[in-house]
Amino acid sequence: MSVYRRWFCNCSGKPEELIYDQAPEEETLGEPCCERCGASPSSDPKHTILFRDEEEFKE
Ligand SMILES: [Zn+2]
Repeated sequence: MSVYRRWFCNCSGKPEELIYDQAPEEETLGEPCCERCGASPSSDPKHTILFRDEEEFKE
């Protein structure tokens, strides 16, 4: 079991999940970014970013 963090942005009035920008040649995930307003967890001028930790179950 592991926990992963999902990021959302509320700029459209309802939470939309952010998309991770993952460069194919890099092993580490980039920072997620809102496709609509461009906000990210470290750049959140309107405070629309929120996250939810979810448990991932493996069977
Ligand atoms: Zn947004």
